[in-house]
Amino acid sequence: MIQHGRERTARCAGDMLVAMSRLTRKLLFSLLLIAPIATPQSVRLYVFDNGVIKGLDPAVFQLKNEEIATADMAVASYLIVHPKGTLIWDTGAIPDSDLKADGTPVTQRLYTASKTLKSQLAAAGFKAGDITYLGLSHYHGDHTANANDFAGATWLVQQPERDAMFAEKPPNITQLAQYAALKNSKTKILKGEDYDVFGDGTVVIKATYGHTPGHQVLFVKLAKTGPILLAGDLYHYQEERGTEKVPTFEFNKEQSLASRAVVEAFLKQTGAQLWIEHDLANFNKLKKSPAFYE
Ligand SMILES: [Zn+2]
Repeated sequence: MIQHGRERTARCAGDMLVAMSRLTRKLLFSLLLIAPIATPQSVRLYVFDNGVIKGLDPAVFQLKNEEIATADMAVASYLIVHPKGTLIWDTGAIPDSDLKADGTPVTQRLYTASKTLKSQLAAAGFKAGDITYLGLSHYHGDHTANANDFAGATWLVQQPERDAMFAEKPPNITQLAQYAALKNSKTKILKGEDYDVFGDGTVVIKATYGHTPGHQVLFVKLAKTGPILLAGDLYHYQEERGTEKVPTFEFNKEQSLASRAVVEAFLKQTGAQLWIEHDLANFNKLKKSPAFYE
C-alpha cells in the first residue's frame, strides 16, 4: 500500500513537472513571439493584401491597353512598427464586415478580396485598437474601407483632405460611412509640411497634393531593406512615370505633376524604392504579412 502510495506520489510529481515544463515552454514561446513585436529594435514594415481591382478602363488613366502590362491593380495596406509605436497606412477597398470568415472571395463593383485586414493584423500580432497612428494616402474608397476601425488611433491627415472628407457634400469617390468615425478621432492636421511621425526620420509623411486635395505619401527608412516610398496613388501604373498622363478624375492635374516632380527628385536624392500601391507586378513580388521588411 505504502509503495503504491509512493508510486502515485511520484507519478503525480512527474505529471506536475511535465505540466509545469509545458507551461514554461508555452510562456517562453509566447514571450518569444510577443517580445520582438511589442518592442522591435528597428522599424518593420508589413504588407497586407486587400485584394485586386479588375475591369478597369485604361482610358480613365489616359493610357491604352498596349501601353501597360495589365490594367488590373493590387489593393494594399501597410503596417509600420516602430520602437515608439505603430502606424497603419491605408485600409483596403472592401470592409472586413463584408468579407467571409472562410476566405471565399467577395466581389463589390470592381473590387475582389478574400482576406480581412483584421486577420492579417492579427497574424502580425496586432489588433486595430493597438494601433497608434492612422494615415490614409487619400480619401478614395479603395483606401478607406476599414478606416473606422482605427478611430482610436491618432489620425495624420492633410488639412485640405480632411476638409473635403467632412464637407457638407463630400466628393463623389468618397465613402463617408467607412471613415465617419474619424471625425472625432484625435487628429494631427498637416498643412503640406513633412511630418516626421516618430521624430527620428525613419517614418515621414510627405504631402503630394493633386490626385486629391490633400494626397500624401509615406517615406519609410528600413535598416536592412533601405528607404522605401509608399506612393499612394501618386501613380497607378509604372508606365505613367516620365509621362504627363494623370487620371482623368484627378482633383488637380497641375498639382499632381508638380508633386510627381518633387517625388522623383526625392527618390534620386535618397535612393528610395518607389512602391506604387496599385502596381500589381510589384505587389506580387512583395513579402506579405506576417513576413515583414526591416
Ligand atoms: Zn486607389
